[in-house]
Amino acid sequence: ISRERMRNFCIIAHIDHGKSTLADRFIQKAKVIDSRKFKDQFLDSMDIERERGITIKSQAITIPYQSRDGQIYELNLVDTPGHVDFSYEVSRAISACEGALLLIDASQGVEAQTFANMYMAVELDLEIIPVVNKIDLPSANIEMVKHQIDHDLGLDPDTAVLVSAKTGEGVDELLERLVELIPPPDGSEDEPLKALIFDSHYDPYRGVVVHLRLYDGIMKRGDEIKLMNNGAVYGIEEVGMFRGDLLPTESLRAGEVGYMIAGIKTISDITVGDTVTHPERPCSVARHGFKEVKPVVFSSIYPIDSDDYELLLSALDKLKLNDASLVYEKDSSAALGFGFRCGFLGLLHLEVIQERLEREFGLSVVFTSPSVRYRVTMKSGERFFLDNPLSFPDQVKIETIEEPYIHATIITPSDYLGPIMNLCLEKRGVQQSMTYLDEKRVEMVYEMPLAEVLYEFYDRLKSVSRGYASFDYELSDLKVTDLVRLDILVNGEIVDALSQLVFRENAAYRARIICKKLREEIPRQQFKIPIQGSVGSTIIARETISALRKDVTAKCYGGDISRKRKLLEKQKEGKKRMKMVGSVEVPQSAFLSVLKSE
Ligand code: GDP
Ligand code: MG
Repeated sequence: ISRERMRNFCIIAHIDHGKSTLADRFIQKAKVIDSRKFKDQFLDSMDIERERGITIKSQAITIPYQSRDGQIYELNLVDTPGHVDFSYEVSRAISACEGALLLIDASQGVEAQTFANMYMAVELDLEIIPVVNKIDLPSANIEMVKHQIDHDLGLDPDTAVLVSAKTGEGVDELLERLVELIPPPDGSEDEPLKALIFDSHYDPYRGVVVHLRLYDGIMKRGDEIKLMNNGAVYGIEEVGMFRGDLLPTESLRAGEVGYMIAGIKTISDITVGDTVTHPERPCSVARHGFKEVKPVVFSSIYPIDSDDYELLLSALDKLKLNDASLVYEKDSSAALGFGFRCGFLGLLHLEVIQERLEREFGLSVVFTSPSVRYRVTMKSGERFFLDNPLSFPDQVKIETIEEPYIHATIITPSDYLGPIMNLCLEKRGVQQSMTYLDEKRVEMVYEMPLAEVLYEFYDRLKSVSRGYASFDYELSDLKVTDLVRLDILVNGEIVDALSQLVFRENAAYRARIICKKLREEIPRQQFKIPIQGSVGSTIIARETISALRKDVTAKCYGGDISRKRKLLEKQKEGKKRMKMVGSVEVPQSAFLSVLKSE
């Protein structure tokens, strides 16, 4: 297909406004997926995505479309995630496109991520088509949303297309509009090859699959290609496009989005944002890469079974291919042995990595309490960044510690102003501004410590606003804080993996929660186990697990043998997920629940 009839576009929106559902309708209209293979939210192919009903990875699919003028177009559509943690996925996906469909839920209207995603698209100069979705809902308020498109987003409300991704209403019209309004890619097939790596994944059978957007030139099987970043040269084994599965094609051409398999064994050769070219006829300048992502939450990962260390390393390497935002380095702990210190874009990102390690690689792992990155200035004048509680220096030698703040934007119906302001206050937020977007909706801007937002802020915001408030943030600067290291002692021994950096005023409360959780999670053993929280040498919380007296099966009164066996098996299963801390067996679930309770 000629370049004039290619259209590369993404679907962007606030979470739950219907991006993945709209992608479904496009895919079904194109009839490229066997109806028996089709399932709702088709592009959300990871188990975690389907279970949680959210998109985590951007996914591309190429579909043919015959427009009303009879021409066949090649549509490259990219579905993107909506959650703040994954905005990096969105920014990469967007940069492979010329246009964006900006979806707005007709009953919810413009929300915080609507703005954030639109700004990203504007920055990259994409053609933006506003789309009002869910017009089938009785609560749909199309006039209100059109007003918001004009007034809040500054887009022309007359260009908005009205659709229901659920019923399919308006989807034909939308397809026509997008081939008409979104420009074809520029570039030339005659120029030297210039292809941008925007993603990749690891396939156990095929190895590394590199996701590319071609700007100039042609690439085909048998070609030698060079990675501009490190000069590595590989021979292409296969190119093709995304069709739900991988669909091999003769070649990939300027303007197209597709994949390449080239027997790449060294996973670290592939970096997202790198340019691929031909070694004998290289392109002059590498494409702009991507903004480097800065992880904001840090935690250490340890394998439950220390023999799994190498496996964990190779799993992280493979995940990194598919998730460029993941960073990690070696780490070790007295309680948990060798592991990795990892950086994440947020807590949801951390949870996703944890689940992927378990599901995709069959690993049992423990994560330590997540921390933000602090800046420490010592009395000696020395200055460094600190995210690992284990590196917390001697308190008396510290001059100041600063913690990262965010610039948070909250959009809410005015009915929930009071409870939201209380919540922000409790989270040490300082209000910067409050603006009425219209009679009913308010936008508030807060400066808040990032560390406070990590813990349950999002859930509480949703609950105090009955789901109506939306939230977006960006990092602002560092402000002086009063930080201490909270240690947790099990049977008198500090469990270093449970130590954490906390704001002094929160320490006692946090310690009580953790001790209580541990008491619930650590099974009783032959001896009494004290669980304590301390700051320096001061004990600030305490719980006790009483000693075990009887065998677990004793309460079965000898009767039901199968029930007894079940109990024993369950116990054995549990043991696999135990970590020895001194002489105490601590289940993985204890570490996890401590992490969750925050
Ligand atoms: P995403 O987070 O933007 O990808 O949103 P999803 O596509 O996962 O949709 C979120 C929820 O909205 C799902 O329960 C969908 O079934 C529902 N939904 C999506 N589009 C429509 C629509 O046009 N009408 C109605 N009534 N529900 C929709
Ligand atoms: Mg989605």
